[in-house]
Amino acid sequence: MSLKFQSPTGMHDLFQEDWNYFDKVKKTCQNMADSYEFDRIETPILEDTAIFEKGTGLNTDIVEKEMYSLTSRGGDRLTLRPEGTPGIVRSYIQHGMQSLSKPVKLWYFGPFFRHERPQAGRFRQFYQFGFESLGVSDPIIDAEIIQIFYNILKDLGFKNLLVEINSIGDSQCRGYFRKSLMSYLRSRQSGLCSDCKRRIKKNPLRILDCKEEKCQRIKKGAPQIVDHLCKECHDHFKNLLEYLDEKGLPYSLNPYLVRGLDYYTKTVFEIYEDSEEGKQIGALAGGGRYDDLVRMLGGKPTPACGAASGVERVVNLLKARSKKAGLKAKERTSEVFLAQVGEIAKKKSLKLFEEFREAGIKVGEALHRDSLSAQLKAADKMDVKYVLILGQKEAIDDQIIIREMKSGNQYVTELSKAVQEIKKKIKK
Ligand code: AMP
Repeated sequence: MSLKFQSPTGMHDLFQEDWNYFDKVKKTCQNMADSYEFDRIETPILEDTAIFEKGTGLNTDIVEKEMYSLTSRGGDRLTLRPEGTPGIVRSYIQHGMQSLSKPVKLWYFGPFFRHERPQAGRFRQFYQFGFESLGVSDPIIDAEIIQIFYNILKDLGFKNLLVEINSIGDSQCRGYFRKSLMSYLRSRQSGLCSDCKRRIKKNPLRILDCKEEKCQRIKKGAPQIVDHLCKECHDHFKNLLEYLDEKGLPYSLNPYLVRGLDYYTKTVFEIYEDSEEGKQIGALAGGGRYDDLVRMLGGKPTPACGAASGVERVVNLLKARSKKAGLKAKERTSEVFLAQVGEIAKKKSLKLFEEFREAGIKVGEALHRDSLSAQLKAADKMDVKYVLILGQKEAIDDQIIIREMKSGNQYVTELSKAVQEIKKKIKK
């Protein structure tokens, strides 16, 4: 029986068409990072497993069931990063960034890994871009992070964006809320899904996030954390909403948005596209404030806020849209094609191709083909303006033919002048 290897479940090959979109997303992030003065950071793909256990939290879905963890040959417990924030905080502490002027602003773009059940918008290897701002507690930072993600998605062409926002308080006010939520949930325990029954004791807030219909019904009557915020958290949230109003950013309050991670404090938010496809695919971005995480990972208490967005989700929506509009992803374009006939010409073409590349002129070629007509057919397909033909005779005489495709006019010139001649023509 022949072997049929497949990519691992939930992990995909990314082809040129995908990268056309991925690069566009990355460039949009880079522009935004330049405007808001965020520095690029790339942390290792493997991190100490303990930073996710301590940071993301032992009772979260990510740590409980979604991590790809291994023990290295040297005995280190390592995990393929399921999210970016703990690694960045580890780096912030390790490199003494707390002594830098505040806020320390960092952004990233790279692959992440979660052993989730594959479904629409959920993969086991996926790309995220993220922006993190560390060192400042003012809600103006939260507003800036939300604005950045809103801007990126808007610049990419998303129109009906919906920002959902909530405050989940801090360790002071959450304790009291947890208790009242737990007693509400206990009285309705039998109506919850089996996962949520388990969560009541360990992580009751997470139940508010559950997508099961029966849990959603129970959620509707649950106490709301915004009614239980301490003064500091209440003021923080109020100021943030005022900043968003000032910026004219459309948002809606979702009192049951909690986001499943342990380290969030105060602000949590998600951004959706308000469309059928958008709802199916899930949140395009999500994040919040994490004022306790630096301390939890061994650093000095440091307020911080950040968010991440799933590149595949963004790209899949962009692709669906351009298909609807009948747009095709940009194809490679060159204005010039280099054809050759015979061994000497083939060898000389190699150098000539490099000269064009160094001069910044993109040249099409089919150097693997020997027949001139096959090469001209390829040139035709590329719809180039000029074809350079290096025939056997020309190659020996150090000359080359330049043919203008539209008129069919052609002339012979010195090989050493080919780049200059084409440069002049393209400029016209
Ligand atoms: P999270 O870290 O779970 O808040 O995720 C942030 C963003 O990453 C989400 O809003 C999604 O856009 C994206 N994302 C999260 N998990 C996945 C996944 N398994 N596959 C694809 N995208 C994901």
